[in-house]
Amino acid sequence: MPHSKRRIALPSMTPGTGRGIVFHRFGRAGARPKAYLQAAIHANELPGTMALHHLMPMLVAADKAGRIRGEIVVVPTINPIGLSQLAGSNHLGRYEFLGRENFNRNWLDLSGAVAERVGTRLGRDAAANVALIRKAALASLAAMEPVTELQTLRVEAMKLSVDADIVLDLHCDLQAVLHLFISRQDWPGPARALAADIGAAATLYNEPYPETLTFSGVNGALWARLAQRIPAAHIPQACLSATIEYRSQHDVNHALGASDARNLFRFLTRRGIISGRAGPLPRLKAAATPIGGMDVGYCPKPGMLVYHVAAGARVRKGQAICEVIDPGDARGPKARTQIASRTDGILFSRKPDGRLAWPGAVLYRIAGAKLLAHRKGMSGVDD
Ligand SMILES: [Zn+2]
Repeated sequence: MPHSKRRIALPSMTPGTGRGIVFHRFGRAGARPKAYLQAAIHANELPGTMALHHLMPMLVAADKAGRIRGEIVVVPTINPIGLSQLAGSNHLGRYEFLGRENFNRNWLDLSGAVAERVGTRLGRDAAANVALIRKAALASLAAMEPVTELQTLRVEAMKLSVDADIVLDLHCDLQAVLHLFISRQDWPGPARALAADIGAAATLYNEPYPETLTFSGVNGALWARLAQRIPAAHIPQACLSATIEYRSQHDVNHALGASDARNLFRFLTRRGIISGRAGPLPRLKAAATPIGGMDVGYCPKPGMLVYHVAAGARVRKGQAICEVIDPGDARGPKARTQIASRTDGILFSRKPDGRLAWPGAVLYRIAGAKLLAHRKGMSGVDD
């Protein structure tokens, strides 16, 4: 089946304006396995878009060679609302201007609607359950009547993703190494090959059904939530859903885009969506660690931020990661407040040097293996 390109029109919010979502399909609609890849839901995070820019011609060639066995849906820029948010020569794509919502929150938890539709029909046949649940999820989405552009965007994106076997949501951080957020259900398991194939320097696993309704979270949690809700039925984790953080916001170049695309292509081949040999699995860079072991450094006071440690470094508990400098304090070193790691682990994300920092601002994240008491009860990815 040839590659197709379509556009979904979103409802206009103001007279004379109108936006849409462009998506590509490779392979036959309904063929299995199905993969769904989207980028830039945080619209100012374009490294994933660059990876998809390089991946799409590879998929066109694979399609022509008859190598696409399943279905691959690619959305290079899922968020035209965020893409249009320009203010004073700045592009602000993380929060919606209209409702101030983080674009990667409040996605749709369909487990209740699906349980209502088919809950009593789910039994011991896992494959039959998967088919029923996917159909019910799509029917639930089709029955929704979103009013705003953002609500419609959420419904339409999930119509493309919710029946997929693999969902990859491509993001990036401010200054970071390549890292991955997954569900505990998938580790060790299918997410291990994903982490190895894409070269993740850190992988963090979340609870199977986190409170935070991120896009990759809701797509994966549908299965875990239904399994919890209907324990007598055999409901497998039928979707590997993950958030890939493609390094830093400015890491957009052809070399990285091309190598990230090759890695994604190899993973899709390994999963049998593209036929052919994937080759040996690359060496895993780091084992997954729990979200509850992620130390988050918060800023204690206002000031100017300077780091002692580069992103990607292994750090020790007690090691100073950065300092906040009070610019109005003339005492030199005494004007500097050190912020230290509370775990041993990988400093996978931080902000750039020289930023203004304020009380409560997140300064860095460290992936540690040990659960941290101060992180208890915290869940959800920060992206
Ligand atoms: Zn993001």
